[in-house]
Amino acid sequence: MGESMSKRLKLQLGGEAEMEERAFSNPYPDYQLHEAAAASSSPSEAAETQRDPAPSPVGEEPESLPFGPDGKISSQFTRRIQSKIGDLLQQMEEGLKTADPHDCSAYTGWTGIALLYLQLYRVTKDQKYLQRSLDYVKRILRNLNGRRVTFLCGDAGPLAVGAVVYHKLKIDSESKECITKLLQLQRTIISTDSELPDELLYGRAGYLYALLYLNTEIGPDTVPQSVIKEVVDAIIESGKNFSKEERKTERCPLLYQWHRKQYIGAAHGVAGIYYMLMQPVSNVDQETLTELVKPSIDYVRHKKFRSGNYPSSLSNETDRLVHWCHGAPGVIHMLMQAYKSFKEDKYLKDAMDCSDVIWQRGLLRKGYGICHGTAGNGYSFLSLYHLTEDKKYLYRACKAWRELFISYRTYWYQRLPSFQHLNLDLKGEKTKWNRTAKRSVAMETQCQE
Ligand SMILES: [Zn+2]
Repeated sequence: MGESMSKRLKLQLGGEAEMEERAFSNPYPDYQLHEAAAASSSPSEAAETQRDPAPSPVGEEPESLPFGPDGKISSQFTRRIQSKIGDLLQQMEEGLKTADPHDCSAYTGWTGIALLYLQLYRVTKDQKYLQRSLDYVKRILRNLNGRRVTFLCGDAGPLAVGAVVYHKLKIDSESKECITKLLQLQRTIISTDSELPDELLYGRAGYLYALLYLNTEIGPDTVPQSVIKEVVDAIIESGKNFSKEERKTERCPLLYQWHRKQYIGAAHGVAGIYYMLMQPVSNVDQETLTELVKPSIDYVRHKKFRSGNYPSSLSNETDRLVHWCHGAPGVIHMLMQAYKSFKEDKYLKDAMDCSDVIWQRGLLRKGYGICHGTAGNGYSFLSLYHLTEDKKYLYRACKAWRELFISYRTYWYQRLPSFQHLNLDLKGEKTKWNRTAKRSVAMETQCQE
């Protein structure tokens, strides 16, 4: 075994030890084990309910499967979720009274709240949620700062969400005004002189997301195809140029960097960019997809760790982060989209490996959020369930939700000094919100390795 091998092994072992700190160890058996235990129990027990064979987390009763053989969520589990949502909304509103008034982003700020209410309206059809979303949209649109251009972290997010909320309320003049302002940003996006990166959080792919969001939510021609094409072309051109600079045209014809690093993950890396280019609404031609995007995805696939996880960047060999921003929970979405686009089983297999590593490593302790929190873990399971209809992934998603409100909650409150990067404070205590505001700069660097 050469020196480099032993170094790599050491890094991996170190990573595993640290991972225990970063995530809860998973107390649950996986779906097949759960089913086997239920099948081997006595008929009367099995008829009564299907029980977890493993001990439940401390203080909790064992729980039956939260869905039926057809994958339909049980009414009991639905009621639990609804009741919890009600509690959390109350706590959130309380906390928002002392939140940072200047953070308008979808990622950590007020647009995220507007988007949450819009989603609640979508699911419940209750008009009060749409009105609530409008309240926040009005406030956000008065505070655009012109600093950034993406859906998640820039003005494109507030403008796109504003356009959708006004459209749903049939206030078309306001909706159109938001769209016009959003489209005015396009000149800077496609300029080849600009220093703009291409990634999802601060770059071109993040602006493209806002355009596609409008065409999906309002109608297919809300943003003209020509506008989308110019943005897509700018992203492809940038990737081709950088790949050439790095002499990787053969291996990875579309390559990107952010802050001088070739990131892999969804937030700053190629996974997020390829994912956007493969969206059918991006209308990238088949030849570009086959000759440029597909080999680039295959290049990333070859960087996979034996665990099924992915490095945060091409120069990093540590199997440590299992986040949406860096690691399997983000890369899985690229792989699922590749499976839909190219219909090759290898992509689905790798996506399943991602799900396995997320399940095995345990849910993150770092927050409730999508980027590097429990919701991002659960989201990956749910997406894979939608794609495969394999109930194993629905089971995992339900367990992720359950974990959020049991061991995680207790642990998180004990761990306040390291509280970071979370805009929804469940207790609404002033101190936490102040800490959030003070750390707004830290937040922006959170998703670096
Ligand atoms: Zn993150």
